[in-house]
Amino acid sequence: MSDVRDVIIIGGGPAGYTAALYAARANLKPLVIEGFQWGGQLMITSEVENYPGYPEGVMGPAMMTQFREQAERFGTEFVTDDVTRVDLSERPFGVFVGEEEYRSETVIVATGATARQIGLESERALHGRGVTYCATCDGAFYRDREVVVVGGGDSAMEEALFLTKFASKVTIVHRREDFRASQIMVDRAKAHEKIEILTPYVVDEVLGVESGKLSGVRLSHVETGEQLDYTTDGLFVAIGHDPTTKLFVDQLDHDDAGYLLTRGKTTETNVPGVFAAGDVQDHVYRQAVTAAGSGCAAALDAERFLADAHGHLEAALTAPREQTRPA
Ligand SMILES: Cc1cc2nc3c(=O)[nH]c(=O)nc-3n(C[C@H](O)[C@H](O)[C@H](O)COP(=O)(O)OP(=O)(O)OC[C@H]3O[C@@H](n4cnc5c(N)ncnc54)[C@H](O)[C@@H]3O)c2cc1C
Repeated sequence: MSDVRDVIIIGGGPAGYTAALYAARANLKPLVIEGFQWGGQLMITSEVENYPGYPEGVMGPAMMTQFREQAERFGTEFVTDDVTRVDLSERPFGVFVGEEEYRSETVIVATGATARQIGLESERALHGRGVTYCATCDGAFYRDREVVVVGGGDSAMEEALFLTKFASKVTIVHRREDFRASQIMVDRAKAHEKIEILTPYVVDEVLGVESGKLSGVRLSHVETGEQLDYTTDGLFVAIGHDPTTKLFVDQLDHDDAGYLLTRGKTTETNVPGVFAAGDVQDHVYRQAVTAAGSGCAAALDAERFLADAHGHLEAALTAPREQTRPA
């Protein structure tokens, strides 16, 4: 069974690379199957200002390259491809990349999540140039500016209220008159002097593609079809996230939205030896530093699991001899 690894980490974002760093330093020789799009969500952002240790800020792709290098320094191996299937029914677990099978005593799932997009070409073109998906990450760049938040759930209300700390005006655009958000959040948003609510409107186009910088949004009234060009400095799309869990939902416990469930403060899933870290199991915080923190926890959990498993193995091997020893 020499081809059986101690740890395979699926996903190459802050959670996966941090898990790899800890596992490698614990001499577990981890393999990270990091995905074709290694680096994760921060590869598509520009400046990260809230990751500790970078007082001047850092570009997202540069930071992820450093995460990867740090894990590599201690002996992490990488496969830059997507896992296509997993078999978590028995240990060692099977992790497949096409026809290639990798086997491991433990697996750390760190496949992250993606923010839902409106789905417009102009939105993609201006991503990072006025279009953003994270108020916690980018809100401070919009001090004294006017911004639009699209969405009608609790997180849209939360993002809008958070943005009032910086922006001079926040307009919530939602496609229905009523909101999915809890009434208390809607009431708070409605009562805020900096917040205006525009319903029922959808975003038809993001404006400013020619200049390479967002200048506004073209809204369309859902009932009348009437169009309205609305000037704004920032567009915060807050219509939800999708965890990347399609490969796992048949084998691991998850919530209704597909986020993997972990036990208490640990990263343990319902399958002993399988751990989950980062955005794939966290719909609340969704930050690089929290993902990295849970990646660290997952590596420590895996290390303890292996130590226990090996302990049991040693006990099993030594027990018969002890039993045959004369009294
Ligand atoms: C535009 C943007 C800006 C952001 N800015 C900030 C910021 O300024 N500060 C901050 O703290 N947070 C920021 N965030 C949030 C932060 O990026 C995430 O919280 C963090 O990246 C989550 O890390 P993760 O490792 O859990 O997952 P991810 O970063 O999503 O990484 C998941 C990895 O898994 C891989 N993967 C997926 N499926 C498979 C598969 N089948 N096989 C193998 N690999 C797979 C992916 O390719 C990816 O490499 C931002 C997010 C976005 C989208």
